[in-house]
Amino acid sequence: DERVKEIRRELDMHVSGADVAKPCISFAHFGFDEALLNIIIKHGYSEPTGIQKQAVPVAMSGRDIIGIAKTGSGKTAAFIWPMLIHIMDQEELQKGEGPIGLILAPTRELASQIYTEAKKFAKSYGLRVAAVYGGASKMDQFKELRPGGIEILVGTPGRLIDMVKMKATNFRRVSFLVLDEADRMFDLGFEPQVRSICDNIRPDRQTLLFSATFPKKVEILAREVTSEPVRISIGNVGQ
Ligand code: ADP
Ligand code: MG
Repeated sequence: DERVKEIRRELDMHVSGADVAKPCISFAHFGFDEALLNIIIKHGYSEPTGIQKQAVPVAMSGRDIIGIAKTGSGKTAAFIWPMLIHIMDQEELQKGEGPIGLILAPTRELASQIYTEAKKFAKSYGLRVAAVYGGASKMDQFKELRPGGIEILVGTPGRLIDMVKMKATNFRRVSFLVLDEADRMFDLGFEPQVRSICDNIRPDRQTLLFSATFPKKVEILAREVTSEPVRISIGNVGQ
């Protein structure tokens, strides 16, 4: 309706896809529980960022997302919050060892930033988070993954594949997949590894892909790994 159009116009937001959930202008309307709302407020966030206003309700409705917004726009929380709710909704939470939420990141630095962000919000649910990336001991990461399993795993593509080969973890339980900074994945030559991981995750998963820019090659990958995605972009990035 008109109000929705007005909100999107004010945020310089472009949305495409069928039956898209309405944007929410405040945290209270996301449908989060008290625990998550309290943590968000404790972190001093007073209102959702532009991408969060639209991506969170769409992700909470179970849809795939292609999200394009510049660096610093709050994309991490836009996928972490719905991922936490998705995991808490799983009936078989106690069974299995591999992650339910899997996040692919192009670099060690980004993987550890996402890990830190995920940990601070996952704490109140008692969910276990781990990160794996190159340039650190495979044995240490192996040990972190093995005992008792985890619910959320963040990693760079190559090291994630190594960990599966070593049987430190598996992707059988993954039903919520995030590809963060998809454009940089390409720049760093990780496309084959990213495709191989996506091919090994159940096709009925929910997939969210985020990128700061949206060149043709990223668009092609995005279309392949998502199904009936809602595309959300802020500003004139990747029009
Ligand atoms: P991006 O992935 O889009 O580059 P980040 O997710 O790294 O952006 O977020 C950038 C910064 O904004 C982080 O320090 C994060 O903690 C902060 N942030 C995220 N959401 C909000 C919010 N709703 N209000 C205030 N700060 C936020
Ligand atoms: Mg980011």
